[in-house]
Amino acid sequence: MKISTATKPIDFTEKLFQLFQKRKDVSIQEYPLEYKKGKYGFLKISSKDITPTDPVLLIRAGIHGDETAGPITIEHYGNEILDSAHEKGIKVILYPLGNPSGFALRLRYNIDNDKGFDNDKGKEGVGNNDFLRYELEDGSITDDIKDGKIPFKRFLWASDPSLKSRFCLPLETELMHKLLKEDPLPQVKGSIDLHQDYLTPNASPAAYQYALGNIEEYKPIIEEVSKICPVYKNQLMAAGFKTKIDEIGNVVEVPLESEMEAIDENGSIVRYDGSITDLFYRLGTPYNVAVETTGVTPLDIACKVNLLWIRGFIDLIKKHFISDKNVS
Ligand SMILES: [Zn+2]
Repeated sequence: MKISTATKPIDFTEKLFQLFQKRKDVSIQEYPLEYKKGKYGFLKISSKDITPTDPVLLIRAGIHGDETAGPITIEHYGNEILDSAHEKGIKVILYPLGNPSGFALRLRYNIDNDKGFDNDKGKEGVGNNDFLRYELEDGSITDDIKDGKIPFKRFLWASDPSLKSRFCLPLETELMHKLLKEDPLPQVKGSIDLHQDYLTPNASPAAYQYALGNIEEYKPIIEEVSKICPVYKNQLMAAGFKTKIDEIGNVVEVPLESEMEAIDENGSIVRYDGSITDLFYRLGTPYNVAVETTGVTPLDIACKVNLLWIRGFIDLIKKHFISDKNVS
């Protein structure tokens, strides 16, 4: 399938709303986000009638507004994803457009260019994928314990009331924290966050992933992905870490090699970086991935890579959390 890039961004929330409104098996909520520079709707789509024993797949797309492939994946394949999950007895919670103003304007951050604020440091926060803090053994607080070898005492939501005077979150992130806390979190067996990598300089078309949890079990998915898209393996990546970008998302500074992250032989980066992926891992979700395709990867391929991960996670959840007699 050829996916058109001509989607009118301003109508996208409405478009998604209409697309899923026809379904009787999901409910759609729209929440207002009021920025200094404009008002946007934030969508949450969830399976109806989630019982306390249903396993749930949670998908978030588009937190970085310029990374359009995630929301477009949901637009093109959302109905297929919901059908397939429901058929297998899996419920879905979908946040299809994590940063609607950023999407509309093709900006990584929101329309106010708000990356949150760190009052301790007196400077801007870590961005909008800000979900978790670690309290280290000396009592200090950080969002990133790298490959996990840094020992920590406990984790907290970035929105934890005890941190309120220290960290401000961007509006869309704050709203998502609030909504997530109402979700049946212990039932979430897989979390998928869809991204694209526009930060790595001189990238070729490729996929890789930030993976946490039972990552050995992701191998068959990666195998499928590698049939349609090259997968970066055994190399250093700079994306997202210490990469400085300007207001419109151009890279202005790349990190030193010593600060880069290693991709393993399966295309995975294991990084406990305070993201939503890390949050779900810490909350006990066994399967967690942030899917990345480089910005030069053709859009239809990027969407198909995303779809392969979603299908793969549906299969993993079915295999481990659905006994055949559960499915009605
Ligand atoms: Zn991203």
